[in-house]
Amino acid sequence: MSSATQKEQTPMLKQYFSIKEKYPDSILFFRLGDFYEMFFEDAVEASKILEIALTSRNKGDAESVPLCGVPHHAAESYIAKLLARGKKVAICDQVEDPRAAKGVVKRAVTRVVTPGVVFNNEVLEAKAPNYVAACCETSDRRYALSFADISTGNFELSLFKTFREVLDECLKQEPKELLLPVSWEKQEEVLFLQKRHPFALYTFLNETSFDPQALPENVTEKITGDFKKGLSVAGALWNYLTYTQQGKSPELKPLEIRSRTGHMVLDENAQRNLEIFKTQSGEKVGSLFWHMDKTETSMGGRLLRQWLAYPLMDLPLIQARQQAVTLFLEDPALRRFLEEGLRRIPDMERLTGKIVSGVAHVRDLVQLKNALQELPAIRETLASKEGVLQELGDQILLLKELTEELDRTFVENPPLTVKEGGFVRDGHSSVLDELRKIAFHGKEFLAQLEQKEREATGISSLKIRYNSVFGYYIEITHTHKDKIPERYIRKQTLVNAERYITPELKEYEEKVLGAEEKIGRLEYEMFLTLRDKVAQQATAIRQSGEKIAVLDCLLSLAQVAFEHRYVRPRVTNVGEIEIEGGRHPIVERFSTDPFVPNNISFNDEESRFLMITGPNMAGKSTIMRQTALIVLLSQIGSFVPADSANVGLVDRIFTRVGASDRLIQGQSTFMVEMVEAAHILNEATEKSLILIDEIGRGTSTYDGVSIAWAIAEYIHNTVKAKTLFATHYHELIDLAAGLPGMKNMNVVVKEWNGQIIFLHQLVPGSASRSYGIEVAKLAGVPSSVIQRAKEVLKNLEEEHGRAAKKDTEQMGLFEK
Ligand code: ATP
Repeated sequence: MSSATQKEQTPMLKQYFSIKEKYPDSILFFRLGDFYEMFFEDAVEASKILEIALTSRNKGDAESVPLCGVPHHAAESYIAKLLARGKKVAICDQVEDPRAAKGVVKRAVTRVVTPGVVFNNEVLEAKAPNYVAACCETSDRRYALSFADISTGNFELSLFKTFREVLDECLKQEPKELLLPVSWEKQEEVLFLQKRHPFALYTFLNETSFDPQALPENVTEKITGDFKKGLSVAGALWNYLTYTQQGKSPELKPLEIRSRTGHMVLDENAQRNLEIFKTQSGEKVGSLFWHMDKTETSMGGRLLRQWLAYPLMDLPLIQARQQAVTLFLEDPALRRFLEEGLRRIPDMERLTGKIVSGVAHVRDLVQLKNALQELPAIRETLASKEGVLQELGDQILLLKELTEELDRTFVENPPLTVKEGGFVRDGHSSVLDELRKIAFHGKEFLAQLEQKEREATGISSLKIRYNSVFGYYIEITHTHKDKIPERYIRKQTLVNAERYITPELKEYEEKVLGAEEKIGRLEYEMFLTLRDKVAQQATAIRQSGEKIAVLDCLLSLAQVAFEHRYVRPRVTNVGEIEIEGGRHPIVERFSTDPFVPNNISFNDEESRFLMITGPNMAGKSTIMRQTALIVLLSQIGSFVPADSANVGLVDRIFTRVGASDRLIQGQSTFMVEMVEAAHILNEATEKSLILIDEIGRGTSTYDGVSIAWAIAEYIHNTVKAKTLFATHYHELIDLAAGLPGMKNMNVVVKEWNGQIIFLHQLVPGSASRSYGIEVAKLAGVPSSVIQRAKEVLKNLEEEHGRAAKKDTEQMGLFEK
């Protein structure tokens, strides 16, 4: 704002500035009549994002005020656009009746909407959580990370040793906002995080915001031991959510611990390389989640996402899910019945979130009722089944009385607004019925009155009419002027008629108009009372919602297993993994040629490390990835794409694949490769599964071979993890002879008439060559280049044979 404008402030602008001052980082929606107006920089910025006209108050004046506005009834979709661009919006409403106001109407910010604190369905993605996260360091130098999703009430706390783990978690959950201590603002790790996750809104808070005391006792009761050290981070989230709601405490579920030891760890690399939620090119279509998601409800979709993000380490829990999938597969009719029921269930979790937070409308309550009405049939059906299904059914709470009350109270299709009534059923309240009779069934009364007055005055053309300026009136043409009784009070003279009122008509009018207002108030009160009543049952409703989500996920697993012929894996605590006829779930789905199944066998004694060679394009990457996906799916309780599978629980999947360029993050391709390798060697355990698809490629051949050699040895001898190691360095084949747990495998091709045919078959033994030139030929590289490459290769092979011999003699590198 320029100082010139400040000089001549109108009282309204003064009020504007006093409010805007408190929300410097938000766009202020300032309610003026039927519009939300934005001024100054806010107007300039918002008009561009919203593509609306930027005008000005006091046009042409040197002190003109830039201004733009949106109609209040359409505000939500405009807010959605601003949030999508990472903006915060402070909603400033009129907080007194303008008719009663002296001077400028009192205004105040009623809520701050931010990308992470929002209930609007236009902004929320149905099958993904919407988190605000906070992170800080604990007194014992660990990182505390907390996530809150106000739309569902989920609230979690985790502790990490390294910032890399924080990064993994953030990239997994993709919070829309991150709250960090102001002292971190310029720290390298944070800048790195901002580069890797640029779509989030970062807010830096004073250290005082990180206050564990902010949390009410009932929210922290599940937090014990060491995790208490992380409470300050949850306190920061709590404070922030309270700020966005103008001092009202957020309605979150009790804080839960999310421990890294309770599930299989999938770090960011593994998630990206295995294309769990997105493909390498960033698409959802083609990801594992996309493939596995047959859920009918948004709640189920969100839960399935969590199942895939956190595979289990708990055998009984995995087996329970498998049992449910088995039962569903055996009973297609049951599956269909339940799916139909689920299809009709709206998002109970988010509806409950809106209800407890006091932002739900009547339509939300009616939707919730529709959901609750589906529960009895589902529960009853499950109760008649065995084991896990029966247990699941028992945990779905019905809330019968509440459902009936909602059904008795509200009409099926209520209007959008809640202040004007029109949503309570006729016959629900005798007081309301009476008022409605007066307000809306006045026609008979008026017809009777008109008839009575016609008879009393003898004027047959006498009419009773209504308009919004004069209310009800009697209209008589000038022809009958002399017949007008004294009790008529003149209101208005027209060219050929006079308009009158009578005390009786006035009384009726007051009754009608009063009734409409009373109806609005009474219905609104009934709505609020019932909304509160529903809010009090939130815990039970949320429980039912969670169980519906579980059911939905299990049905989804069964449906995928059915459609794609998956089998139940035998999941054990023993280290071995034995897959027969394994397939890649996605390559199989997209492939036009028949997919060639493959066997993989890991056992501690003789084959915990499989060195895979084979030509380019043979299918090495596919086999490696399908093995990891089969293990992962087994540990979420799913069936798997194979003829049979024995899967020993894996604590973590590591991937090191290809050359992922992170030049923008200031790391060269080779540096990234080595950082990833270091990470694997330092973190992997005997229970881990490691996929290494090429290593040491970003440097000179001898450097590369040496590094790959040493890494393979270290994994085999020291880490002892189950490993799939694909390489074009044929020198590495020699390693297996000296290492008992290592085995050479190769993916075979057939040469036929000078062509190569890809058989995609993994067999024991090593490949002799890579057929890189043949693949280049297939790819359409000009034949003169291919010819020349062949000549160069021949020369190199001859020279290399001599040189390698000399090198190995000197270095002793390939000695066993
Ligand atoms: P490179 O060494 O060049 O990276 P690669 O050996 O890792 O190659 P993949 O990327 O796994 O080869 O596979 C190449 C293509 O072959 C896949 O995109 C897929 O279309 C096809 N393919 C791989 N495995 C199979 C299979 N088992 N059955 C059918 N098609 C397959």
